Amino acid sequence: MPQEILVAEEQAVKAYGWAARDSSGILSPFHFIRRTTGSNDISMKILYCGICHSDLHLAKDEMGLTIYPIVPGHEIVGEVTKVGSNVTRFQVGDIAGVGCMVGSCRSCDNCTQDLENYCPKIVWTYNKHQEDGSRTFGGYSDKLVVDQHFAVRIPDNLPLQGTAPMLCAGITVYSPMRYFGLMEAGKHLGVVGLGGLGHMAVKFAKAVGAKVTVISTSPNKKKEAMEQLGVDEFLISHDQEQLQAAKGTMDGIIDTVSAPHPLLSLTEMLKTNGKLILVGAPAQPPELPVFPLILGRKLIAGSAIGGMKETQEMIDFAAKHNITADVEVIPMDYVNTALERVAKADIKYRFVIDVANTLNSPY
Ligand code: NAP
Ligand code: ZN
Ligand code: ZN
Repeated sequence: MPQEILVAEEQAVKAYGWAARDSSGILSPFHFIRRTTGSNDISMKILYCGICHSDLHLAKDEMGLTIYPIVPGHEIVGEVTKVGSNVTRFQVGDIAGVGCMVGSCRSCDNCTQDLENYCPKIVWTYNKHQEDGSRTFGGYSDKLVVDQHFAVRIPDNLPLQGTAPMLCAGITVYSPMRYFGLMEAGKHLGVVGLGGLGHMAVKFAKAVGAKVTVISTSPNKKKEAMEQLGVDEFLISHDQEQLQAAKGTMDGIIDTVSAPHPLLSLTEMLKTNGKLILVGAPAQPPELPVFPLILGRKLIAGSAIGGMKETQEMIDFAAKHNITADVEVIPMDYVNTALERVAKADIKYRFVIDVANTLNSPY
């Protein structure tokens, strides 16, 4: 009998995944339970799960928010294996995607405007205590039970491995690029950090005909970024001359960097009325460069993932434009090495775990 059973057995479906148990962030096999399929729920056999940098932040408790044991993973694609009696959007055998949230209140101002991602009662896909006392566990696991509202339909033409990362990385950049008017032909977008989020921002922006400049710490990413992702300009963030030359040229910048870094040169690169959108989540707050904001009516904003309606819109947009993430598919037992490589920005551009073929679930 596994020791780590956390809610009443009679409501339980046995599940298996990999969890971190302490701030070393090292993952190992873990038995737990999921709820049975409720009337509004779908159950999924998880096929692929992307590795987001947030998984690393949380596995290592870099934010001071982690509840151990933690099963990370919120870029999930799976096959529907069961549907509840009220489910209308999915049938058994369909492919569904689940991102960072699996619940919200459904009635607050945010929820009624399709902004469940800003609901004060949002239920994150993992690392969340729920009202009934149970816990959520993420997609580095064999199965998931989720309210149909928090799953999206995956169009047939999208390859599933490259689709998984769009459930977090994709929507996290798509939503602010749309909201702040940066995903438009003729606009000049800066993308800071060419990782999982950053390369999705490049793909969406190029799909609509925007000009894209990447601001990166990694000169070794330049050639491929320009030749394969179609990046127009590639600036090295420690090259002051390059940064100076780009002053006042950009309509907006999406900053996806996962570690503390200065914002001054970024705000200086914006045109008057330019917008710097922070989506990366370094644990320490940045210093705020006030003067370049004042002298140009510039704006710094944040943004978190996107609502369910917009997540479906993003997936449908991706299907129409043949956009998926560039991925390195790995077996489950490579996950600790993969997380170490994510910490060093040594991945082009997303690891995706081949869960169905390599987890070896006993259930
Ligand atoms: P990632 O794949 O690791 O990419 C981050 C990129 O930032 C790296 O590839 C690297 O790009 C750059 N970078 C890393 N360390 C740096 C440093 N010390 N200084 C400057 N640049 C550095 O991570 P990700 O999965 O895209 O996630 C990025 C961040 O967004 C994380 O903090 C994550 O938690 C957060 N996030 C937020 C949301 C949201 O809703 N707001 C959703 C998902 C993730 P270069 O090599 O090009 O410099
Ligand atoms: Zn994420
Ligand atoms: Zn709500």
